[in-house]
Amino acid sequence: MATSVPIPTDTFKLGFIGAGKLAESIARGVVKSGVLPASRIITAHRDSQRRDVFSSFGVKVYEHNHQVAEDCDVIIFSVKPQIVKEVVLQLKPSLTEEKLLVSIAAGIKLSDLQEWADNTRFFRVMPNTPSAVGQAASVISLGGTATEEDGLLMDSLFGSIGRTWRANEKMFDAVTGVSGSGPAYIYMAIEALADGGVAAGLPRDLAEGLAAQTVLGAATMVVNTGKHPGQLKDDVASAGGTTIAAIHELEKGGFRGVLMNAVVAAANRSKEFS
Ligand code: NAD
Repeated sequence: MATSVPIPTDTFKLGFIGAGKLAESIARGVVKSGVLPASRIITAHRDSQRRDVFSSFGVKVYEHNHQVAEDCDVIIFSVKPQIVKEVVLQLKPSLTEEKLLVSIAAGIKLSDLQEWADNTRFFRVMPNTPSAVGQAASVISLGGTATEEDGLLMDSLFGSIGRTWRANEKMFDAVTGVSGSGPAYIYMAIEALADGGVAAGLPRDLAEGLAAQTVLGAATMVVNTGKHPGQLKDDVASAGGTTIAAIHELEKGGFRGVLMNAVVAAANRSKEFS
């Protein structure tokens, strides 16, 4: 088995195959956080509008994917899942062992990626849509010949669009259930909180602002204090007060069970796809 040549951290070039929404979020995050200057990021797209988006913040845009694959040391496959096999097979001659390969495509297994590329220095990453605002939750799984140094490089790239965790890809269906699909559950919770506010007499814009800021604030409390969420809940529920009256209603409606079922349903659906 070939040994993995270290990626030159001060000079490496980062390429995106697929100049879509997520590639844009990652590229912007990487530039904004200073992990890489835009001049070391490259992509390719035929569509002039997508080319202009990337050029506007200094990313080089080539005509063809193979130019990106040849020129870059770290290559992120960010096309839709159904196109990944085709592009990896097309670029296979350029995907040599000294390159670090990454797929963010949902549901595409590392074993398949490694086989198509004939290269096991492959990472699979599962980010989520809050990457667009620098608040992604990304889970990173290391392929066969990826080194710990490669892993640290991944942490810094994906750390620029939010928080990162490492996990075996066996957990990716469950990850999809929590963080992949999770933003949608929380949008629904924000909408419902705002509806409740309107029902209780608030104007819509005030209710929506309060609902969203409350979710942001509560999540920040969990992340920043490190306290158990149950403890934080108990801290705001005083004896005979308003909060415990609301909690009683949530429990009667099966709030926790409904959320748990939602996560398991998404994880099961993800398993069916992969
Ligand atoms: P997108 O549709 O915005 O981006 C895909 C881009 O690839 C498009 O611009 C498309 O024109 C381009 N493309 C199509 N065929 C191509 C080809 N042969 N060569 C080069 N480019 C080609 O999609 P997205 O939301 O950015 O998602 C990209 C990938 O990221 C998907 O595989 C998705 O599963 C994964 N993903 C996305 C999110 C997210 O938050 N959006 C989260 C987790 C995983």
